Amino acid sequence: MNPSVTGRIHSIESFGTLDGPGIRYVLFLQGCPLRCLYCHNPDARSESGGTIMSAGEVMDDILTYRAFIARGGVTLSGGEPLLQPAFACEVLDGCREHLLHSALDTSGAVPLVRAAPAIDRADLVLLDIKALEDDLCEPLTGRSSANTLATLEYCETTHKAVWIRHVLVPGYTLDSARLERLADYLLRFSCICKIELLPFHKMGEYKWKALGCPYVLTDVQPPTDEQMDAARTIFRQRGLIV
Ligand code: SF4
Repeated sequence: MNPSVTGRIHSIESFGTLDGPGIRYVLFLQGCPLRCLYCHNPDARSESGGTIMSAGEVMDDILTYRAFIARGGVTLSGGEPLLQPAFACEVLDGCREHLLHSALDTSGAVPLVRAAPAIDRADLVLLDIKALEDDLCEPLTGRSSANTLATLEYCETTHKAVWIRHVLVPGYTLDSARLERLADYLLRFSCICKIELLPFHKMGEYKWKALGCPYVLTDVQPPTDEQMDAARTIFRQRGLIV
């Protein structure tokens, strides 16, 4: 590990329970190449913001929580952590040196030529598939799903443990035909340990307003419990773990 490599940090959550197994130190890195309509962290998207920290400073901070995260670990999230691959690699190396489980929470949008070294170093990849097909992925995120799907293929080839995440947005991804196609697509990947279907929420809407950006999903309501159950059933019927 080279402790002098620096990165841009959006924020830190020292007792995260949502981003990987157990209690985790979650490092949110600044910058994201996507523009998801439902982004709950729009202030994390600019590549020029955030606080600059060295990998050594981050590791020192992580280690102050070691007793709490010993059975969980560390998650690099964002923004998009793979947009700062050199920094991510150093922190992941630090986690390995200190025997801390590491996870990368990523959309897979960064090309593998840049992202693969960090993926190789992580114990677990939380891969957020925004939409399988580009007719939806592009209007929803501004980008194609090609890099995300290539990332999943890479994880399969390298036997990297993956949790799939997929946000269900009524009128967009919450569509039974699309969910059936996604579930069918995921069936052949033995690297997938778990699939998390997450309900769309509007907790970040106020941040869009603060940034002066129009939030186009104002009138979209979160899915009902019944809609979430129906979506999970589509995956469970195929033997997928959700
Ligand atoms: S990938 Fe995450 S941080 Fe980036 S725009 Fe989408 S929701 Fe926001």
